[in-house]
Order: sequence, then structure tokens, then C-alpha cells
Amino acid sequence: MSESKLTNNQILALSTKEEKKIAVDKKFPGAVEHVKALLEAIGEDPNREGLKDTPYRVVKSFIELYKGYDESPEDVLSTFFSEESETLTDGMVLCDHITFYSTCEHHMIPFSGVCHIGYLPNDKVVGLSKFIRLVEAFGRRLQIQERLGCNIADAIMDILKPRGAGVVIIAKHLCTSSRGAANHTNHMTTSNMRGEFRTEPETRAEFLKLIELSGTVNLSV
Ligand SMILES: [Zn+2]
Repeated sequence: MSESKLTNNQILALSTKEEKKIAVDKKFPGAVEHVKALLEAIGEDPNREGLKDTPYRVVKSFIELYKGYDESPEDVLSTFFSEESETLTDGMVLCDHITFYSTCEHHMIPFSGVCHIGYLPNDKVVGLSKFIRLVEAFGRRLQIQERLGCNIADAIMDILKPRGAGVVIIAKHLCTSSRGAANHTNHMTTSNMRGEFRTEPETRAEFLKLIELSGTVNLSV
């Protein structure tokens, strides 16, 4: 495999700093020079001691901040357990308080928070870790919170084909708190309901109640 094709995890696993630098430069061509130009544009000297490695570090951070572009939701949710429909007919599954970190596409400044996912399986269920990966797959890109919830809900509906799904995201937006609107809230809550979560008020209410209940339980050992 050529270095230009290395995945994010393969780059992070490289043993020497020099190997990493070459791989990062191939993955994000020209980006280090662009960050240097940005430093100059804000009035900095990119050659001063403290900033010498900063352009490279900024670009290296892209490997984790934007690794979602290399993830396919189909791959993430492809390992499901099939169950007889009858055994799943009345069970709602809630995966709550999945913490995530994303980057606002308007300012390239972080927003982060928690994501609650619920669904009513038909005949496919997946492990909790898959939902964590699904949130990462869509979150580790340039995003807006409104679309992040839609992406997650739509992927669950398209791939697992449940009777319904709901996604509630509560996030803090640093682009608001760090840029002159500090006296206003920097929290946003979004909800995306699909299938029976949208059409059945009782299902939606059960989902929201379960989220509330899950927040009151301390499972730490
Ligand atoms: Zn923003």
C-alpha cells in the first residue's frame, strides 16, 4: 500500500515522527504551508520557536478531527445481529449519552456534547459500540448539529430498517461562546425522529422519558 493511501489509524500507528510527517503531508498536500500562511495573516511569525512545529501539528490533528470522511456508515452498521421479529416487537433500544466531538463547518471551531439514540428494531440489532462509531463517522467531519442528527437517524433507518428511530443531540458550540456572543446561550438541542418515533406520540414520549431516566442513574462502580 502506498503511503498516500494510509488510513488515519495507520498514520497514527507509524513509529517515527519523520514517517508520520511524510504520511501527513501526502494525505493533506500543501496544508502545512497553508497553515503557515494563516499564521502570517494573523500577524504571527511562523518561524519563532514556539510556532515552528505548529503548522504540522495543526494538520496532524486533522487525522482525528476529520477521520469521519474515511468511515462508511454502511461498514459501521454492517455487523448486526438478526433476531426473530417476534422477539423484538415491543422493545425500544436506547443508547444514551454518547459523547461526541465535532467541528462547525461555518467557522471550523469545535462543538461537542452528547447524543442519545433510540430505535425500535424490526429484525436487526447492533452493539452499542457501533452507535458510538456511527456518531464518530458523522461527527468527525465539518458539520452542523442539525445535519449531524439527520445523518445518524437516516443511516439507522436506511441500514437497520427499524420501525422507527430517534436522535437527540445536546451540544455546546465554542464558535458562539468564543466569538462575541458570549452573553447568549451556546447550547443547542436538536431532535430528529423517524418512522414510529415521528408518527406515534406515545413512542416519542417513551423515548424522551427513557433519556430523562437514564440521566438519573449512576452506574459508576
Ligand atoms: Zn460556527
